[in-house]
Amino acid sequence: MMTTGIWISIWDISAFRVIFRILRYVAMKILFTGTGNAVCYTGRAGACTIISSNESDIICDFSPQALLNIEKDRVDISGVDHIIITHLHGDHFGGLPYLFLYMRDALGRKNPLYVTGPSRIQTIVEQLTQLLYPGISFPFDLVFSEINPDDTVELASTPFSIKAFKTDHTDDSLGFIINDGEKKIAITGDTTLTPEIEKICPLCDMFITECTLIEPIANVKHISAPEIFSLASENKEVKIVAIHSDEKTAKSIQWPENLIFPNDMTIEII
Ligand SMILES: [Zn+2]
Ligand SMILES: [Zn+2]
Repeated sequence: MMTTGIWISIWDISAFRVIFRILRYVAMKILFTGTGNAVCYTGRAGACTIISSNESDIICDFSPQALLNIEKDRVDISGVDHIIITHLHGDHFGGLPYLFLYMRDALGRKNPLYVTGPSRIQTIVEQLTQLLYPGISFPFDLVFSEINPDDTVELASTPFSIKAFKTDHTDDSLGFIINDGEKKIAITGDTTLTPEIEKICPLCDMFITECTLIEPIANVKHISAPEIFSLASENKEVKIVAIHSDEKTAKSIQWPENLIFPNDMTIEII
């Protein structure tokens, strides 16, 4: 009996891997590496999402805790050449110096790494890296690019293009529409629910946004549970994913079926 159980487990794992490899060719896969916010309620890492299509992976945002989940679950990020950053708050970009170290010391990276984000991205990331590790250098080029709202950029050697849009969080915070030629997802990063976001949502196969607040709070630039409930109810054909939340917010309301609050390391395929 035990042997049967073991063989079933092994078969399950190999079948899962085969299916997963095939899906990498035909579908867009989203791995929610970090679904928490700056205070990491219930141990969930700050923002990090890995998007894969046609054997290419890109990363959107990289919190200081993201690497822990990547290493714990042995996620292979050796093929990642592009990181995109929504805004320069620590829970969205503060893990980059550790990612660079990991790529140097654990992965032996030699190829350039491209980091795209809002204005000042190069200055701020370089300053943070040098503050944490004075004098550090890397055997690969770090290539920074600024992107502005409405710019569209093709990410070289991947099927992905990204189009930036303005969000309402910091002066230069951005969201991205990510297109692999077949499917379209959007990631808003931190924001309030703006008219532009309400326009973009129905154009996407998946809409990844935030839900930080149980109720709206004046002058706090985040989305609340009732607001995301309305967005999901009005866009039933779109799968809506709420990250940057805590457990109380996630449990504060009966959610529509097209809305999910994933935990760290949830995988979605579209
Ligand atoms: Zn923020
Ligand atoms: Zn945040």
